[in-house]
Amino acid sequence: QAKTRKNWVEVFSDELELKSQKTAAIEHHLRSAIEENEIYLNYQPQLNNQTELHGVECLVRWQNSSLGFVPPDEFIKIAEEMGFMPTLGHHITRLALTEMAQLQKHLNKRFHISINASIKQFMQEQFFDDFMDCVTKSGIPPKYITIEVTESILIEDVNFILSILDQFRRKGIAISLDDFGTGYSSLSLLRELPIQELKIDKVFVDDILDDSKDASLVKNIINIANEFDIVTLAEGVETVEQFNKLRAYECDLYQGYYFSKPLAVKDLEKYIEKHNIV
Ligand code: C2E
Ligand code: CA
Ligand code: CA
Ligand code: CA
Repeated sequence: QAKTRKNWVEVFSDELELKSQKTAAIEHHLRSAIEENEIYLNYQPQLNNQTELHGVECLVRWQNSSLGFVPPDEFIKIAEEMGFMPTLGHHITRLALTEMAQLQKHLNKRFHISINASIKQFMQEQFFDDFMDCVTKSGIPPKYITIEVTESILIEDVNFILSILDQFRRKGIAISLDDFGTGYSSLSLLRELPIQELKIDKVFVDDILDDSKDASLVKNIINIANEFDIVTLAEGVETVEQFNKLRAYECDLYQGYYFSKPLAVKDLEKYIEKHNIV
């Protein structure tokens, strides 16, 4: 029987092979995902401390006939590596702004729209023009649009990135620093980057009730951001207790399952009809 048992090296290499097969399958199907209409968007509400709707974050979804539902955490990384992110990112931007322009027109109400952008999009020459083209065609005033970036944008040519961020800022589009507090982000980023919003990562929000160090970290981040006139948004708020504590710290905006999961456009419409808009 010992013979049929695999040693750990064999198990490990089997896993590697499975993983690369999965990656290869994702790559393969992703190339046709846009034409096959498999890409769609969900929108998660972002609220102020009165729980009025401030805006929505656009989150990409992919449902493939043979792979099933593939979470964005899995396929975005692969899309980046295979050079597909500029195409996918542009598709997401155009779809998000088209859908939200339609909904805003239908409801006769404006609200903010946050779109995630990958470093791979920033490094592409036409990114700024393509993005602005989508904005113009949508008819949504730029002041309602936010681009969410992570600190990873700084691993590339910093001056180049800063110049693009500045171009957006001059058009009135806000830049939000996503996942703040994870990775290597330091407070000096708040001084160096032309950002208007900072998203406090879920890992801190998770622990603010029972970890006093995390709580004081969050409190101080909010205070510093306030001094820099940067709006703070807490991510992954799941309980009323977390919301109340963040509110006591004077956080500006909130997003998380406590308020709403990411919603399909139809459900977002119902949500907005039931809620006040700022
Ligand atoms: P992210 O930008 O940090 O997005 C927040 C993630 O947290 C989303 O996961 C959202 O569904 C989830 N979330 C929100 N509230 C809660 C909560 O209260 N509890 C928990 N447990 N989770 C919550 P999602 O949609 O699976 O996206 C994962 C990541 O994939 C995103 O993290 C982002 O990095 C990437 N992503 C998603 N959509 C896009 C996109 O359109 N473009 C790019 N470049 N990346 C995207
Ligand atoms: Ca985000
Ligand atoms: Ca985040
Ligand atoms: Ca902790």
